[in-house]
Amino acid sequence: MSVREFDLIDRYFSGLTKTEKSVICGIGDDAAVMNISSDQELLVSVDTLVSDIHFLSSTEAYDIGYKSLAVSLSDIAAMGGVPRWATLALTLPKIDADWIQTFAEGFAQIANEHSVTLVGGDTTKGPLSITVQIMGTVARGSSIKRSGARVDDLIYVSGCLGAAALANENLLAKKVDKSVPKYCIDRLHRPMPRVDLGQILNGLASAAIDISDGFAADLNHILVASGVAARVDLNSLPVCEDVAVLKDEDQKWQLALAGGDDYELCFTLPAQHKPVLEKRLEKINYPISCVGTIAAGDKLHWMQKGGAEVNLDLTGFQHFPTKD
Ligand code: ADP
Ligand code: MG
Repeated sequence: MSVREFDLIDRYFSGLTKTEKSVICGIGDDAAVMNISSDQELLVSVDTLVSDIHFLSSTEAYDIGYKSLAVSLSDIAAMGGVPRWATLALTLPKIDADWIQTFAEGFAQIANEHSVTLVGGDTTKGPLSITVQIMGTVARGSSIKRSGARVDDLIYVSGCLGAAALANENLLAKKVDKSVPKYCIDRLHRPMPRVDLGQILNGLASAAIDISDGFAADLNHILVASGVAARVDLNSLPVCEDVAVLKDEDQKWQLALAGGDDYELCFTLPAQHKPVLEKRLEKINYPISCVGTIAAGDKLHWMQKGGAEVNLDLTGFQHFPTKD
């Protein structure tokens, strides 16, 4: 979500989150956190995918079904929670039984992979749009917020960055699928929410966010929520292979840092927790990279080899780009 959308929410909706005992975390994180029992908290998040905004209308129904739940699962992963239930609001231009069947199969695949049960929804007529609300649980007091990063914490990112954005860029330019590496197309259409990793971070990470808008914007959300700055070492960033080989440096950083749709996790870790994290990671065997440190201040500093700071001119996606 871009700065302008945050302004809008701040102005009109943030005040509606009442400070009361049952709400541990309202507007402003990957999921809301509510007190529901003496030992558990409820996590709730909702995301909408609109045709030709969040996915090309040419996308297979199966992939749309898969991705619509995957992006919501990713928010539960970022909170360190266990996804449990989902509701699905579908707006369809017409009843196309084959399309709906295939969409449902894609949705069911990832729901089954994560033991998520669909418990309700809504169906309406209109331009194609899919809204998934996800609910999950986490042990009381252990959800990972965006606001916990502290000076000297290490900054990590999981997996690699930029593959989905490269696929998207190519598909938008109407290049035939064959010219786009399959790995990148898969990352765009079938993101893999890092739910296992999120749970491993529980009790260790000081802050976390999932990378939906791009590493730069999403790390910045942690910085703003935590009131800190960051120094990120460009050389340590896990840029996906197909992006890393691009000759155009600006395009490379744009895709890896501002392209979005990665659905990896960015998190911060007090350095003393590093050995425990490494031990726990053996269980899931998934790569993470330490890419920098949290510092005092409020800016995101990009550092080159040798320690010099560089300015990167990154442009993020905006739903409401004009000043109106
Ligand atoms: P994410 O990318 O993790 O899904 P977003 O960037 O979409 O999160 O949203 C940021 C925060 O703003 C979230 O806490 C979300 O719940 C909240 N939010 C977004 N839109 C609205 C709205 N219309 N009313 C209330 N809260 C909103
Ligand atoms: Mg998120």
